[in-house]
Amino acid sequence: MTTVTQNFLTRRDFLAGTAAGASLIALHPYSAFAAANQAHLRIMETTDLHVHVFPYDYYSDKAVDTVGLARTAAIIEQIRAEATNAMLVDNGDFLQGNPMGDYIAYERGMKEGDMHPVITAMNTLNFDASTLGNHEFNYGLDFLMKSLAGANFPVVCANVAKTLGASPREDETLLKPYIILDRQVTDGSGETHPIRVGLIGFVPPQVMNWDRKHLEGNVQARDIVATAQAWVPQMLEEGCDIIVALSHSGIGAAEHADGMENASTPLARVEGIDALMTGHSHLVFPSPAYDGFAEVDVATGTISSKPAVMGGFWGSHMGLIDLLLERDGNRWKVVSSTSEARPISQRNEDRSVTALVESVPSVLASVQKEHDETLAYVRQAVGKTAAPLHSYFALVADDPSVQIVSIAQKWYIEEMMKGTEYEGLPILSAAAPFKAGGRGGPEYYTDVPAGDVAIKNVADLYLYPNTIRAVKVTGAQLKDWLERSAGMFNQITPGEADQVLLNPDFPSYNFDVIDGVSYEIDLSQPSKYGPKGEDLNPDANRIVNLMHDGNPVDPAAEFVIATNNYRASGGGDFPGAKGDTVIFEGPDTNRDIIVRYIVEQGTINPTADSNWHFKPLPGTSVLFDTGPKAADHIADVKAVVIEPAGDGPDGFARFRITL
Ligand code: MN
Ligand code: MG
Repeated sequence: MTTVTQNFLTRRDFLAGTAAGASLIALHPYSAFAAANQAHLRIMETTDLHVHVFPYDYYSDKAVDTVGLARTAAIIEQIRAEATNAMLVDNGDFLQGNPMGDYIAYERGMKEGDMHPVITAMNTLNFDASTLGNHEFNYGLDFLMKSLAGANFPVVCANVAKTLGASPREDETLLKPYIILDRQVTDGSGETHPIRVGLIGFVPPQVMNWDRKHLEGNVQARDIVATAQAWVPQMLEEGCDIIVALSHSGIGAAEHADGMENASTPLARVEGIDALMTGHSHLVFPSPAYDGFAEVDVATGTISSKPAVMGGFWGSHMGLIDLLLERDGNRWKVVSSTSEARPISQRNEDRSVTALVESVPSVLASVQKEHDETLAYVRQAVGKTAAPLHSYFALVADDPSVQIVSIAQKWYIEEMMKGTEYEGLPILSAAAPFKAGGRGGPEYYTDVPAGDVAIKNVADLYLYPNTIRAVKVTGAQLKDWLERSAGMFNQITPGEADQVLLNPDFPSYNFDVIDGVSYEIDLSQPSKYGPKGEDLNPDANRIVNLMHDGNPVDPAAEFVIATNNYRASGGGDFPGAKGDTVIFEGPDTNRDIIVRYIVEQGTINPTADSNWHFKPLPGTSVLFDTGPKAADHIADVKAVVIEPAGDGPDGFARFRITL
């Protein structure tokens, strides 16, 4: 122990120059030094890069400090500089997920021999291996295989097969199920020894559903744990000293269920697996995010007593597992471990962000050309809109900026419901105006003129990085969902003029419009729910004439509603959307779905279909404030009569609606 302590001090001195190093050193009491029969092996992980190489947000078209493999690379270089024995793996989801990925897939293409920029950047860093994430399948198998052809590192995946055999070991797998890397490790006395490190990859079998149109008839997927149980013994027979699972799967339930998406905990229990790289959930392990999970120990960084790590997403962290290995006869075994996820940036108390590392120039340089091309791509038209996309009247009438989101979500969920038990149900779509003035000010509206639509504009249409969900609700829940939305409005007295329409305590992102049904909002009635979803007037009915397909909605009827993860999991506390009605969880962001929809359609025509409006109240008028540019668009609004009514406060313009 004395030696260890001395080395600890030595290493702390070595790292004292960097703030990040100084705070992290305490996590490594055994340091980079080991006894004569021991070796210290450091395994580094990136995961869920989603094509983020540059520290750049292409949607908002500005540099950021929170993402980018070029930044993660700085931490990788630090580790390599200080460690004798280090390996670097990627855990999947590298090919898709930002405009650079879309640029390559939709615009430049992947011809035989083309390099994919994220692969180029990974080659620059000399990865030892990678596995496939679910998003690797988003652009089809041909695109995937052409992209992988440029990798100078092996890519493994055990549970996706071109043909299934009677057991996993008889499958004809799409890629190698595992790889065994013969390496040298230097022990504590400076001698080198051979070590065989086995790396086996897994992806959620849900890819068969999520990317059915690319995969059905071409490949099949198996359960992660069953696949591991079949292959790991073979890896041991082939002499692996250490087996690392590259699990592109989250940390979830401890109990195994066939085909489970987040299978890392039961996977950790598979005999022979020594350590797990995890991912898919875009979270950090170890971190308090996993406090209280069964068989998960955040303090020791272990799952079922096996070292594990999850390195965030988009290059936000580098995951690091330190293994202390000991010679056991001719083989190595793990005697202790630590794991941590090292961030590239920190968020300060005032919400500002401080970069903790600088970009590695060689990584930036390797894809500078594709970065520049992506900048041009996000700034140029990818499609056309026949109608202007603005949100000036999104709170008072059916609106094109909300309509386009609903249309794209419905288009996606319809595809996902095919072949499921829900296929015959009506598919509705819920969307809310995210940019609609309020505390954002009088300029804070979506405003894309008719004509060209650029990728940058899509960020405007869909502000948050939500992911797609579908829920199944009854007609009664559907109505209450809309009653919850209708809390946006103050109660209006019939027959009175110029009453204030909007409740300022009600955020616009909770004003869900549901497309696929038609309805009226009776402002003369009190709101059933308060601004936070609390029960106010249980018997109130603001939603009237709720119709589907020309018939009144039966409270017992069933509907599928396309929405996002925030709403579906209880965000806003909406009836029918409290987490227990989810029937589909998609991996795609709603924003990506809108981009895909626009690219595939070429020209979109998101003219609002006026499926909701206020119930007429003779002799009654209301006032509301919106951005002054709204004046140019009054004529676009069909369902309601709007006229200018002077200036509002703080630069807003005031308008009158005669009900
Ligand atoms: Mn991912
Ligand atoms: Mg509509």
